[in-house]
Amino acid sequence: MPIQPTAKIWHNGSLIPWEKAQIHVMSHVVHYGSSVFEGIRCYAQPQGAAIFRLPEHMQRLIDSAKVYRMPMPYSLDQLSNAVVDLVESNGVAPCYIRPIAFRGYGELGVNPKGAPTEVYIANFPWGKYVTGEGGADVCISSWNRMAPNTLPALAKAGGNYLNSQLIRMEADVNGYSEGIALDVHGNLSEGSGENLFIVRNGVLFTSPLANSVLSGITRDSILTLARHFGIPVVEQPMPRELLYIADEVFLTGTAAEVTPIRSVDRITIADGNVGPITQQLSEEFLGIANGLRTDRFNWLTPAKVNTEATADQPVSV
Ligand code: PMP
Repeated sequence: MPIQPTAKIWHNGSLIPWEKAQIHVMSHVVHYGSSVFEGIRCYAQPQGAAIFRLPEHMQRLIDSAKVYRMPMPYSLDQLSNAVVDLVESNGVAPCYIRPIAFRGYGELGVNPKGAPTEVYIANFPWGKYVTGEGGADVCISSWNRMAPNTLPALAKAGGNYLNSQLIRMEADVNGYSEGIALDVHGNLSEGSGENLFIVRNGVLFTSPLANSVLSGITRDSILTLARHFGIPVVEQPMPRELLYIADEVFLTGTAAEVTPIRSVDRITIADGNVGPITQQLSEEFLGIANGLRTDRFNWLTPAKVNTEATADQPVSV
């Protein structure tokens, strides 16, 4: 989806014009992938905008920076307030919010300590996600996720997305919507930008954090909702073939929300229809995000945006 510019971007404490948010080609990040970032959704509700799990996203940004010894000059509150200010200033909802911190222009060389941290936050319009009938057709990738103790999977770092690009491009050229990667031990890991869930005999399974996955905030939301509904939840290493014999499979992510999977490697999951647990969790998730169900877990941060024109679009799962 092409980026639609908004008026302002937050940079190191100030709102600057969109077109002024530029960096030098000799910035450390351009050469060595030294960035950490977030992707956050802001929903349009009838009474205004609602940012989904803002503090959790900004805490993950701070944690990702910490793993890479990147000085983070802003506190959780400052970063969260910056997002609200930006969304209110640009006045666009629904939107996607992209905070990014990176090693900027200073010194070149692998050790980034002479390159100052730069923090930017951008947002731009992004419509509500409506999944197709019956879900997505995916494959197992020939690429693995990063081995433990190589690139830390819990840090949402720019460099990790070279691996994600390989997974996604391979799936695309072979006619699949997404690739699911195994970890280096052959256990199921995650998609190029989504966590993986399997339902079998009424139990909800997902890969544990040690299987080279990002600690997804949607993953956490789905685990929380499942426990709320009394659905048994198991985080354990899963063999590839569990996918083929699953009752239901779905992916979760800020972009993907809850995406049902219809087939894996052209093997149809169950009868090929969206399963009842996927449906129940997806409806509650989208219901809360869109203000149609009670925000019982305090997941939403309000932002003052006029949503009259955008809040009444249909939401389907
Ligand atoms: N795994 C990867 C590799 C991702 O890039 C993402 C998207 N951030 C996810 C999982 C899902 O995380 P979240 O639910 O926090 O968006």
